[in-house]
Amino acid sequence: MPSVIRHAAARRHAYMIAAAGLIAAAAAYLAASDLVARADAGPAAPGTSGAPYPDMPALAPIGVRVDRYLDVPESAKGPAIDRAKGYRTQKLGDGLYMITDGAYQSMFMTYESGVVVVDAPPAYAGRIRQAIAEVSDKPITHVVYSHFHSDHIGGTRTLGGTPVIIAHRDTNRLLARDADPNRPLAAVTFEDRYRLEVGSQVLELSYHGVAHAPGNIFVHAPKQRTLMVVDVIFPGWMPWRRFALAQDVPGYFAQVDTISGWSFDTLVGGHVGRTGTPADVATQRAFMQDLKAAASSALKTTVPAEGLVPPDVDNPWAVFDHYIDRVAASCVNQLTPKWAGKLAAYDVYIWDQCYSMEQSLRID
Ligand SMILES: [Zn+2]
Repeated sequence: MPSVIRHAAARRHAYMIAAAGLIAAAAAYLAASDLVARADAGPAAPGTSGAPYPDMPALAPIGVRVDRYLDVPESAKGPAIDRAKGYRTQKLGDGLYMITDGAYQSMFMTYESGVVVVDAPPAYAGRIRQAIAEVSDKPITHVVYSHFHSDHIGGTRTLGGTPVIIAHRDTNRLLARDADPNRPLAAVTFEDRYRLEVGSQVLELSYHGVAHAPGNIFVHAPKQRTLMVVDVIFPGWMPWRRFALAQDVPGYFAQVDTISGWSFDTLVGGHVGRTGTPADVATQRAFMQDLKAAASSALKTTVPAEGLVPPDVDNPWAVFDHYIDRVAASCVNQLTPKWAGKLAAYDVYIWDQCYSMEQSLRID
């Protein structure tokens, strides 16, 4: 229901923009029309955008076009990527590398007689072999799936060969359901943990419950002090919208706590242009705690139906839309002074995070 409400709000904004365009285009030759008369004075037509809520944040809400987004802080950017090449490779330690195109990240680990690939994002999977060839002439013998989502493993076929694929049991269950030829099933599955030992190299795979998605695992390279967890931590950045579409928001919060308790030097988050550190995890955790407190206080202090016109008071969907919009606006207002300059793309997804947080607090 709340997502329906959110979409209704987005549609309303879209209608408002479309209506504004219509009005401008029609004004030249329809000066006397009802449309133009309504634009000049009087309340908006039912179903169209009305006066802004009191204390409406300046940051554009969902569905409203932004002419220019906030600048991305330098600290959030990774090293430059050669655009002609399309990716950057970063050595994380003995035989372990991250590949990124600036938006996605994956890893590979070389050993005496082969290479283990962790994830194959279709965005650049066609270049993973080239990236490997820069440091190793050995074949890809294993592929580890972080989780079942196609944007992270949908390029697996393009790696070629017949590597042994390893994944969590739930990943295979969901892959079987999706029946996507670009995401072949894993030959090896596990439930709690799996130790992949190849030559002198080790990857420890472990499962810590549903947060982002069922079957999303931790990939730990102990010798290289690197932890890869995809779609949970976004070093230097606002998480992707709605806690990166976390399927379980309380589980997502718990998993960020779990990650902050691990011992590692480098975090590979699966997205953005740079790797993370324990300090990045602490920053995201602090933001999430502030967000939870802001949404919680907004839910308590916002009065349902306050300012709603009488005919809408009997429309429960309208009452919720009007209430939740104001809760989100209050949440955004509480967070902006502290966080707008701290997390890259704060403005892009802060409304989404507030909507997601208030929803979780109400129903989880
Ligand atoms: Zn995902």
